[in-house]
Amino acid sequence: MLTKLFSKLKDYYPEMVEIRRYLHQHPELSFQEVNTANYIASYYEKLGIQVQTGVGGNGLVAKIHGNHPGKTVALRADFDALPIQDEKDVPYKSTVPGVMHACGHDGHTATLLVLAKAINELKDDLHGTYVMIHQHAEEYAPGGAVSMIEEGCLNGVDAIFGTHLWASEPIGKIQYRTGPIMAAADRFEITIQGKGGHGAQPHKTKDSIVVGAQLVTTLQQIVSRRVNPIDPAVVTIGSFVADNAFNVISDKAKLIGTVRTFNEELRDFISTEIERIVKGTCITADCSYTYEYVKGYPAVVNHKDMTEYFIELAKEIDSVNMVEEAEMQMGGEDFAYYLQHVKGTFFFTGAKPKNGDGTYPHHHPKFDIDEEAMLVAAKALGAAAINFN
Ligand code: MN
Repeated sequence: MLTKLFSKLKDYYPEMVEIRRYLHQHPELSFQEVNTANYIASYYEKLGIQVQTGVGGNGLVAKIHGNHPGKTVALRADFDALPIQDEKDVPYKSTVPGVMHACGHDGHTATLLVLAKAINELKDDLHGTYVMIHQHAEEYAPGGAVSMIEEGCLNGVDAIFGTHLWASEPIGKIQYRTGPIMAAADRFEITIQGKGGHGAQPHKTKDSIVVGAQLVTTLQQIVSRRVNPIDPAVVTIGSFVADNAFNVISDKAKLIGTVRTFNEELRDFISTEIERIVKGTCITADCSYTYEYVKGYPAVVNHKDMTEYFIELAKEIDSVNMVEEAEMQMGGEDFAYYLQHVKGTFFFTGAKPKNGDGTYPHHHPKFDIDEEAMLVAAKALGAAAINFN
């Protein structure tokens, strides 16, 4: 059966490229992906495949029933773009100013659509049900996964598989990992309320910039001095704003940052530690503060048995020449939520461009993928789904 599937996917590869390039030219931001959702819906409608729209927002769920009874397997692809100006010099560059598919979600969508078409053509010989989850809004918390799950996209699903096209790894490589693979990604905001005044009279003020500067350095001691070194964690201050004239002492300073962890206990510990340091520093300087910690996506934690099942299959795929364990990534992914409900695994599919002006990281204005990665991803997801029955 896999041989048949793979040969169909190979035949349909040009269509995958065509879809990906169309989506690449017409990107839409998270929670605004109305035209992309319509495009996906009409693709399924043309094939006569049952598709539910408006699932938890702009999400869609298509179902293909095999002719024989069996288990239900879900595959997920996200379809939102990013607020980045496309700076690539290619015929398929974004036509929307300031919006770009800079993470490969266009490729994820093209992969899943064409895979659905191929599976649909084989359905007379297939067991079980195939649930294609097209998820909106992966890039922006709270994300689309939570609302799609709330609206039942995982109802009756026995297992789920997902992949991310990964531009840092060469084509033909698949990376798996048992347990945590991507981090919990949180955001925090600290406002320091001092007392502004004349730059020449510091003794009559409470300098919020001095307090903020102390915080930037002291917060670095959480990871270096308070967290067990074998437990990965990141505390980053991404923004420090206390804008003023050169001769003014700032009344207020605002710091915004992110925390990345893999373990819930550590996640809560860091959140508490930040506030303890903010509180102590502000007491010392006689300032007040506000502190907000917003939890983003939890860590993506792959199930052991599903990952082991997938590794063996991946090794058998003709266009896969390397199957290796992935490093843990400090980036976040809301695929995490699906794995909290059903067993499954999330893996990386190498998508490094062969030529062009080098490899740019995900979320870069010149980001691109080697489109052949979509064929590899379709084979891997298709094999995982079909062999499950
Ligand atoms: Mn992504």
